[in-house]
Amino acid sequence: MKSKVIILTSFLLLACGNVQSKKDSIVLQNTEIRKVPQFEADSAYFHIEKQLSFGPRVPQTKAHNNCSEYLLSKLSSFCDAAQIQQGMVELYNGEVIPCKNIIGIFSPEKKSRILLCAHWDSRPFSDQESDVKKQKLAVSGADDGASGVAVLLEMARLFSIQKPNVGVDIVLFDVEDYGKPDFYTGKVYTDHSWCLGSQYWSKNPHKINYTARYGILLDMVGANGATFRKEQFSNYYAVNIVNKVWNEAKELGFSSCFLDEIGGAVTDDHLYVNQLAKIPCIDIIRQEIQSETGFAAYWHTQEDDMRNISKETLYKVGQTLLSVIYSEK
Ligand SMILES: [Zn+2]
Repeated sequence: MKSKVIILTSFLLLACGNVQSKKDSIVLQNTEIRKVPQFEADSAYFHIEKQLSFGPRVPQTKAHNNCSEYLLSKLSSFCDAAQIQQGMVELYNGEVIPCKNIIGIFSPEKKSRILLCAHWDSRPFSDQESDVKKQKLAVSGADDGASGVAVLLEMARLFSIQKPNVGVDIVLFDVEDYGKPDFYTGKVYTDHSWCLGSQYWSKNPHKINYTARYGILLDMVGANGATFRKEQFSNYYAVNIVNKVWNEAKELGFSSCFLDEIGGAVTDDHLYVNQLAKIPCIDIIRQEIQSETGFAAYWHTQEDDMRNISKETLYKVGQTLLSVIYSEK
């Protein structure tokens, strides 16, 4: 994804004080009333390691193909139905390549549906490396890609044990991170070179006339000490969903992770889900608004590996999303 880093500083809000001493009882109460299952961070952590074990999931590589089979098999085991949507997409340099969006469906008969998504491909370039020799190496993508997928796989496991009241569609987008690298100087064929899998799906959803009440995209949700700000496109298109998620996080005692602050505007899969599929969709994404790129130092470098991953962060994101989904009627 690409950050536009439009920071509306006047919109910055300070997080409200959090009553830490009441945290545990609030969690317990919510868990009992709504019967929200416990998110197992160990399981999500394992799913990140497993994705990385294939190697960088760069389209048209063996690692990408092997990982697609793994993800399909996991979704098939948890969901009522699972499928791979295949299409062709055009890269920044005019090359046309295959794209595989991997989809898991819960309760297909239900009209009231929630879309949960993440991208599963890895960036083919480490173009944020200062060392030129490293810039053409693919990114491992522990946080950038694998973390969001891992949280969704663990949620899918829990959905298979206890069905939510609403139908849920999990869509793992391909070719999100093949956007024009900074070092490329040739002819550019498209201004929309990021998020190609989600653009394809948004124009050709897996089901005719598909829609959902709202969508939640996860991107870079697993790093140690990560904080999440309210991303600006999310606020523009789906502010009530942003507030719903942030309120749930606050009730669970996670306000120091889900900050009550405005972040930058990020060109990510949710933008096309909003604009092309017309489904209000938010992006939960780690941003570092003071940094030059708008993202953490390991972003699009060789450093985006397991060393950054934190079970605590995975837990906070996963448990918050479970509370949101199980609160839906
Ligand atoms: Zn990326």
